[in-house]
Amino acid sequence: MSRNWKDALRCATACGRCGAALAPADPRILSVYDHEPICLPCKRREEERPDYEERAREAVGACLADVEVAYGDPGGFCYHHFYPFTC
Ligand SMILES: [Zn+2]
Repeated sequence: MSRNWKDALRCATACGRCGAALAPADPRILSVYDHEPICLPCKRREEERPDYEERAREAVGACLADVEVAYGDPGGFCYHHFYPFTC
């Protein structure tokens, strides 16, 4: 993950899972599996995976631990795993 993760995530131009184009105003959300920005239909499929809740808990724990030190804004990063955002 680069220091510019916010810019990369906010302005991703395609879904990291299915490759669907994302315009700046299209909502996207972070995967709890690989932290890629993905489209909302992909997020719904992700949420149906049997290990989703476990992975979501791990993702929150990991991002709080890692991002707090590196980026100073753990709330923002974790938040984007559960609430859609736009560019
Ligand atoms: Zn997608």
